[in-house]
Amino acid sequence: GAPLSVRDVTHTYGRGATAVPALGPVSLEVPAGEFLVLVGPSGCGKSTLLRLIAGFEGPTGGQVRVGGEVPRPGRQAGVVFQQARLLPWRTVGGNVELALRLAGVPREQRAARVAELLDRVGLAGTAQRRTWEISGGQQQRVAIARALAGSTPLLLLDEPFAALDALTRERLQEDLRRVSAEAGTTSVFVTHSVDEAVFLATRVVVLTRSPGTVALDVPVDLPRS
Ligand code: ADP
Ligand code: ADP
Repeated sequence: GAPLSVRDVTHTYGRGATAVPALGPVSLEVPAGEFLVLVGPSGCGKSTLLRLIAGFEGPTGGQVRVGGEVPRPGRQAGVVFQQARLLPWRTVGGNVELALRLAGVPREQRAARVAELLDRVGLAGTAQRRTWEISGGQQQRVAIARALAGSTPLLLLDEPFAALDALTRERLQEDLRRVSAEAGTTSVFVTHSVDEAVFLATRVVVLTRSPGTVALDVPVDLPRS
């Protein structure tokens, strides 16, 4: 099946009087290699949709399938959040190494893979650094390397550059575009920045919020700039 299929997905947090309708119904078919950017106002359900695709929780309604399967956390998708969430007691390389270990990469292959992944995200030679010694932009590069470590078909990114200064953000956008194209991964990237969407996307999907509900609005096919 398609790398990612979202069919009539809705999601509600809580139930009864405290129920919060957060998303949907949304349907999306995402072909291999696409760099899909989800844009929309705060609270329209972008993060919720990403979490459902990552398999962190099941949708209240509808179906999410990744490669034809119900997604399970860590199995089909590498995820990058706004905060890098690196383990401070491990080195830069150690953080990537752990992701490789969790992905089942044999011990004897890991050091070479760590070096290769760090090189790909522009961090060659930093494996021994401490995570708190490097800049916020470099931390997000490590987070991207970690997300690529599992060689999963999907890369999910939730406003990964929102906390960075403008220049750092631009550099990371350029590098992410290159890295994802090289890896041939299918990406879903959440942002509220239309500039960022247009720069990165092969396709933009706008989520809108109408009173009490959220609906998929317009898929726009853009040439990659
Ligand atoms: P976005 O990423 O577009 O800002 P979210 O997916 O974070 O939107 O949130 C969509 C809606 O769901 C919002 O109304 C938000 O307050 C609500 N929401 C998100 N997470 C939770 C949660 N864990 N519990 C209850 N409501 C939530
Ligand atoms: P916050 O720090 O905003 O409170 P959480 O730490 O509760 O958010 O994480 C939100 C969701 O992301 C949870 O479902 C959690 O399991 C998942 N998550 C957090 N960190 C990671 C990670 N490094 N890799 C994969 N999933 C993660």
